Amino acid sequence: MKVIVVGAGILGAVTAWNLAAAGVAVTIIEAGQPAGGASGASFGWINASFYSDEDHFRLRAASIGAHHRLAEALGSRAVQWQGCLCWEEQGEAFDAQRDALRALGYAVRELDARAFAAFEPSVRPPERALLFADEGAVDLAVLTQDALNAACSLGARIIAGVPVTALAQTNGRITGVEWAGGTIEADRVVLATGTATPRLLASVDVPLKMPDRPGLIMRTTPQPPLLSHILVSPGQELRQQPDGRLLAPTAASHQGDNSTDVRELPSDLAQRAANRVGALIGQKVDWQDVTLAWRPVPEDGLPVIGRCGPEGLYVTTMHSGATLAPLVGELAAAEVMDRPLGNGDAALLAPYRPQRFR
Ligand SMILES: Cc1cc2nc3c(=O)[nH]c(=O)nc-3n(C[C@H](O)[C@H](O)[C@H](O)COP(=O)(O)OP(=O)(O)OC[C@H]3O[C@@H](n4cnc5c(N)ncnc54)[C@H](O)[C@@H]3O)c2cc1C
Repeated sequence: MKVIVVGAGILGAVTAWNLAAAGVAVTIIEAGQPAGGASGASFGWINASFYSDEDHFRLRAASIGAHHRLAEALGSRAVQWQGCLCWEEQGEAFDAQRDALRALGYAVRELDARAFAAFEPSVRPPERALLFADEGAVDLAVLTQDALNAACSLGARIIAGVPVTALAQTNGRITGVEWAGGTIEADRVVLATGTATPRLLASVDVPLKMPDRPGLIMRTTPQPPLLSHILVSPGQELRQQPDGRLLAPTAASHQGDNSTDVRELPSDLAQRAANRVGALIGQKVDWQDVTLAWRPVPEDGLPVIGRCGPEGLYVTTMHSGATLAPLVGELAAAEVMDRPLGNGDAALLAPYRPQRFR
């Protein structure tokens, strides 16, 4: 079986690696360079504590397990499992978040200011915070490259700098993809094209809307070790990379940010984020670079995973791909190869089929 995976972000890379590991002949076609889209510009927080509903929680929690499997299989060091300290919610909302996560069986520990200070001596301690010990952060550019390298070592091929313009089909069956130079043939096509997915699906009459969702990430110069956890404070997320640089979304409450455009200079947004970060850690912080990227957020905010349109076409697109890609890549590859999912995995994917937009 010949499979084309369109898009070399984290979703395409992990799906391609799973296919190659199962002996499938895979070609990855990428319009730009690997991880040149959202995956190269992500905050990279792996979590199940930020979720829409219980199904979404279960998918995210299962993908934390898949992250460990993937890192081991690839020998990747792209993920740090440093845990997260969260005090974004206050008062009753804090209690409600803690109780809901405990009821779902999530590892949650409540810390008072003294316990918090013992974990994070450089940060002004809040009265109380939640510790999510099982969460981590990933450098998606590194994980994407690790997955592509592993796929290529198993025979996969990458064609980069080549935008797919349309899907090729005959008699209701996918036959490959079109680009400016002609048709590249395949038995199956996986679309892992992030924000470009609605346009490509429209070429085979599959509806998907994706509103514009810009996201900016600010980075500082390398700092001495300051933080041991991902921090989610009221209005500011923050983490420290292994190279010492502090990394922070410029939008206050970034995970729930629904802005559709950027109305201020990125430099002003970066400066304000640097000021908030400085207030959090009690020292002046200078930003070094700021990156704008569009987040792939389907119209209902939830992942889109599954077969759709002509026979042989499969789509995977979502926000929270830093969290979800390892599990989605595993399950998508199995379905592309017509391997039936077990009941548990099928139930995990059931709410996210593309047919819900019909
Ligand atoms: C600022 C920001 C912060 C984020 N923070 C988090 C977070 O903390 N936690 C979390 O879980 N998620 C987070 N995300 C989301 C996560 O990064 C994305 O869900 C994930 O990277 C999506 O991966 P992808 O492979 O689907 O898309 P992308 O990485 O965008 O890859 C799609 C690829 O397809 C290629 N492509 C598009 N069209 C074509 C075409 N016609 N032909 C060939 N190739 C094409 C593109 O060039 C691109 O390389 C964040 C995203 C952003 C932008």
